[in-house]
Amino acid sequence: MREEELKKIKQKALDEHIPIIMDDTLEVIEKYLTNLQPKRILEIGTAVGYSAMCFSTFLAENGVIDTIERDEERVKEAKNNIKKVGVENKINIFEGDAVEILPTLKDKYDVVFIDAAKGKYPFFLKESLRLIQTKGVIFADNILYKGYVMSDYNKHKQRTAVTNLRKYIKEISENPNLETEILEVGDGLAISKLKV
Ligand code: SAH
Ligand code: MG
Repeated sequence: MREEELKKIKQKALDEHIPIIMDDTLEVIEKYLTNLQPKRILEIGTAVGYSAMCFSTFLAENGVIDTIERDEERVKEAKNNIKKVGVENKINIFEGDAVEILPTLKDKYDVVFIDAAKGKYPFFLKESLRLIQTKGVIFADNILYKGYVMSDYNKHKQRTAVTNLRKYIKEISENPNLETEILEVGDGLAISKLKV
């Protein structure tokens, strides 16, 4: 892993306003990954590969990350970045809409990181629950969406996103198989551990 390259990629993404994972959110997830030593991670929303590359250092030996991205330009950039950093043997990018790709996946994952279209979070949860390993952990980024989710904010532009993020929170909170916490790090992070 070439740390210097990764730093440059992070700075470029920040300069271009690509919504990469925030430092405090990353710190929390990295603590979990240190303990879990996952063999397989699924990420929904690659962008330019930053979070996937950060996670890759925490994989067990021969572990892999499968990550899904629908934006063609970002897929190209992510592939370049992953080569530059030297982790191409650990990260597979699936190009396309996660809504179509997820139902085609069959092998289980130790960790899922949801970080894509907010309006699709309930669907991503359903697929994550199907794909998660016993005792696995599902993380969902941007779950508090700038505070809109916990306020009575009701502007039409973000309404679908907010409604679906609330639905996601309700479902993870009520699911008896999950132990869930929601942290106010970054843009909000939901952590759901499978009890069995
Ligand atoms: N995880 C990245 C940031 C992801 S930003 C990091 O922290 O470095 C969210 C990305 O999800 C965007 O690049 C967007 O194009 C992608 N995306 C949004 N909805 C998607 C969908 N339905 N299928 C696949 N990719 C999606
Ligand atoms: Mg995010």
